[in-house]
Amino acid sequence: MAAPKDYYKILGVDEKADEKAIKEAFRRLARQYHPDVSGKAGEEKFKEINEAYEVLSDPQKRAEYDQMRRGYAFHQARSRGPGFQRVDFDWNPRDFADWSTLFEDLFQSDGGFSRRWQTDGAQAEETVRLTLEQVATGATIPLTVNTIRECPVCHGRDRDCPRCGGLGQVAEPRRFDVKVPPGVEDGAVLRVGDYARLKVEVEPHARFKRQGDDLIGELMVSVPLAATGGELSILPLVGKPVTVTIPPHTNHGKVLRLRGLGLPRRGSQQRGDMLLEVTLRFPEPFTAADDEHYQALRAIHHEGGGEIHAPR
Ligand SMILES: [Zn+2]
Repeated sequence: MAAPKDYYKILGVDEKADEKAIKEAFRRLARQYHPDVSGKAGEEKFKEINEAYEVLSDPQKRAEYDQMRRGYAFHQARSRGPGFQRVDFDWNPRDFADWSTLFEDLFQSDGGFSRRWQTDGAQAEETVRLTLEQVATGATIPLTVNTIRECPVCHGRDRDCPRCGGLGQVAEPRRFDVKVPPGVEDGAVLRVGDYARLKVEVEPHARFKRQGDDLIGELMVSVPLAATGGELSILPLVGKPVTVTIPPHTNHGKVLRLRGLGLPRRGSQQRGDMLLEVTLRFPEPFTAADDEHYQALRAIHHEGGGEIHAPR
């Protein structure tokens, strides 16, 4: 049994490194060894970096990997003595996910690099429907693809092979956990190695409409609050409630921009904004006391004729 690759060493991070440190190390190395930058020489290194990140960036895979590493150390220590049971660990990170989807996440381009790994084989076409929340956080989509591989029994050399019936090839379902990067666009196509193409469809959302990285919504504000100004607690697309400040004398139709509360921007740490268009409404229930106050206001203003504008 070969020693497992040291993904921590490959990324140059400590075993206790947090997600952020791992991501930063990966981004730095991936840019450095990207084949478009470092050429053919960097390819192997680039693949290795991606493989390491693919595992260490996913809490579940990282836990499995850590466990496997501990198991390996244990195995090494024990297997020298006689009479101990031999334990084998199968570890193939390529079965978990494919790094080419990650590549899209990082470099936001359909660069020449991914294409080098493509073959002429037919690719499965799948559509994956995502909620806007999944777009915000990113998602992992399990996908099983039927692949064809060389017959492992006869390697295509036996016409009477019982496994492949002499075809030389066997079908093999492969499972992928496809990483959908945060901020993915509606209609984006994610490549799953050479095996499949996943077309992203983003479902409509009840509260927000997407406009690039921005989220657009209507915010109901009561007339008294719009008049005096104040604060409202709102629920963003994901995460905890946030406080919105309504400036005094806010008119119907005013757009409030909440910076950084939009969707993640692909290939950057930044996020778009949330744009809330104010819709004024009267308090409910509208009480006798309310009536009295509004009558008093009405008396002050003495409005006469009305202005008319063509609708925009
Ligand atoms: Zn065969």
